[in-house]
Amino acid sequence: MFKEKASTKFVFFYLVIVYVFAFMFWWSYLLYSKIEQHYSDAVNYRGLQYEVFSGGERIDFFHTDEFQELDKQFKRQKLMILAEGSVFFLILIFGVFKVRQSILKEVAIARQQKNFLLSITHELKSPLSSIKLMNETIKKRSLAKEKQDELLQNALNEVDRLEGLVENILIAAKIENDQYGFNKEKLNLSELCKQLMQNYLQRKEIQLSYDIEENIYIEGDKICLNSIVSNLLDNALKYAAHSPVHLQLHTDKQNVILSVSDNGIGVADEEKEKIFDKFYRVGNEETRAAKGTGLGLYIVKQLVQFHKAKISVEDQLPHGAKFVISFAL
Ligand code: ADP
Repeated sequence: MFKEKASTKFVFFYLVIVYVFAFMFWWSYLLYSKIEQHYSDAVNYRGLQYEVFSGGERIDFFHTDEFQELDKQFKRQKLMILAEGSVFFLILIFGVFKVRQSILKEVAIARQQKNFLLSITHELKSPLSSIKLMNETIKKRSLAKEKQDELLQNALNEVDRLEGLVENILIAAKIENDQYGFNKEKLNLSELCKQLMQNYLQRKEIQLSYDIEENIYIEGDKICLNSIVSNLLDNALKYAAHSPVHLQLHTDKQNVILSVSDNGIGVADEEKEKIFDKFYRVGNEETRAAKGTGLGLYIVKQLVQFHKAKISVEDQLPHGAKFVISFAL
């Protein structure tokens, strides 16, 4: 349905372009023939007049100043059509290129927004359904304490996921409207990372390791930095399920370097820039196994830029992705 709409838009666009070009060539051709006709009429008419007025004595009109002037005028007009036509043609080509670019952009944004709506519906619905189901099970059946605790823990994990999702949507909306209140202070990034790792490590099913240099201080916003690291860890755990994830924090001469690496599917070279765009997700919503909204890395990049830092994604060998943030010291 969506593809149909986009291709209809393009068919219409190309039809208009073909019409405009055909129209332009047709009018240039008409103008040229008119000028040529005018020139040959003038040459014929003045040529005849010369024969009459010269009283029998033969004067070759083609060697007169008047013919030279007519000829010059004709050449000037030909050149004018050619030059103005070419300029118009170039402007038109440039315009077509720009309009095509903006249609493509609009189509991509519309597709991403459609994907976002699809995914957000799923992302909100599925944890709510499972929380409901778990609560109903606890209420209806008299379960052993252990089983009850397990279900409650699962329900809490789902609530955490929902909370993270809503948090991301709110941050993205605030960034978009320039309403995000950043609060920079001198903070111990090593402690912040360690604290976060402890929270993650409570989840038994994941393989997480870290290597954190002690007492690295930076000027930053605590909430933002938590969000940056959590988004990167969540992604690594999501896209590299059942394989180890590693967080490293260290300094070199000029930078503080924070990296999160995994041994998952990795990011193809042509996607390395795009994954930081808003709503962008690799592949198609229908074919994608891991669910998400395409907001995580967009938020991470915006927050990283607020810290005047840089983020990039590299290949992790033999396979996987490594997200590297470098803060200038
Ligand atoms: P989401 O995870 O909600 O789709 P993100 O903005 O966090 O949105 O990520 C954008 C895309 O980047 C993801 O859809 C995924 O395809 C890709 N991606 C992010 N992190 C990783 C990773 N660690 N390994 C492989 N692909 C990743």
